[in-house]
Amino acid sequence: MKHLLILLVLLGTFLYFPLSFEPLFKSLESKKDKDVTPIIIEQDTKDLFPTIPESKYDSIFAANLSFQSDGFDFPVGKPNGENYFKALKFGQRHHLGEDWNGLGGGNTDLGDPIYSTSDGLVVFSQKVCCGWGNIIRVVHRLPDHSKYKYVESVYAHMHDKLVRAGDLVRRGQKIGTIGTAEGKYSAHLHFEMRDFVGMSLGPGYSRDNFGYLGPTKFINLNRPY
Ligand SMILES: [Zn+2]
Repeated sequence: MKHLLILLVLLGTFLYFPLSFEPLFKSLESKKDKDVTPIIIEQDTKDLFPTIPESKYDSIFAANLSFQSDGFDFPVGKPNGENYFKALKFGQRHHLGEDWNGLGGGNTDLGDPIYSTSDGLVVFSQKVCCGWGNIIRVVHRLPDHSKYKYVESVYAHMHDKLVRAGDLVRRGQKIGTIGTAEGKYSAHLHFEMRDFVGMSLGPGYSRDNFGYLGPTKFINLNRPY
């Protein structure tokens, strides 16, 4: 009888512990999967800008040196913008960006891939009202540039957005697709480059182009090779 009791206790122990250890093993495994601490970036939903200070960019890129920019490619028809043209250039009618369209015209470029112009950190990824559609903003750290420490790229009217604020992206990585801003325009990419990072989303057109760069000019001066 005594032996039977001991046997039962032992059997119970064997049955019980593997079950109770299981959640512990699982939580260890899931911790191992996430080898990178997620980067949290708050987004101001009214004025539409990332609310982090530049010092935080410094620490994020210091911890992720391989995501510093090694140069810039065009955001469509990668790497050189092949089979696309600019329907509206920077500065034309006070345009603060460039409108990139497929050579086929109309909506033939709807759903075409949009690529990150360079390595960087996604600081904003949201659907925005009133004609903007889906927006992605990426901050790029320029380690060796004589003039700029950071620049920012802005991609607007997207059909799909494939990355989130806090994601680190590579030059040429597909981050979204060309859209119509929910039918407001025929499909195109409105693309901005800025040397003043973290400004509000802005009006798209203005006589005041403080903080904005001519995208094609900037990219051509800063190719990766
Ligand atoms: Zn535009």
